[in-house]
Amino acid sequence: MDCVFCKIVRGELPAKKLYESERIIAFEDINKVAPVHALVIPKAHYDSFIALPDTESELIVELHRAIQEVARLIGVADTGFRLVTNNGKTAGQSVFHLHFHVIGGRTLELKMG
Ligand code: AMP
Repeated sequence: MDCVFCKIVRGELPAKKLYESERIIAFEDINKVAPVHALVIPKAHYDSFIALPDTESELIVELHRAIQEVARLIGVADTGFRLVTNNGKTAGQSVFHLHFHVIGGRTLELKMG
């Protein structure tokens, strides 16, 4: 599939990996908006948050755990971080493979839209 994140999963594109399990990887965002900016993704392709059905409950729990683990690994679990997923064009989604941004390392402005 011609998807940037699928290519990272397959090792066809380089990425600074921060975490990997059987079904999930996390890597540094190529265009960090804060000192710490990780992306947590399922290896399987889902276009967006809304495309991941709740029948995939194991994967959803694994994603939850992976996000917590990544936040600990990159040192923001206690200090604070923002967890973001942009769903669809009007939300600014630019890569159509489900991903969660974990952003921190400085005081973030309160911006909700
Ligand atoms: P979104 O706009 O929410 O879809 O987020 C997509 C994110 O993917 C952006 O923050 C990009 O900087 C990031 N990104 C795009 N291509 C790559 C890449 N090859 N490696 C790492 N991050 C990427």
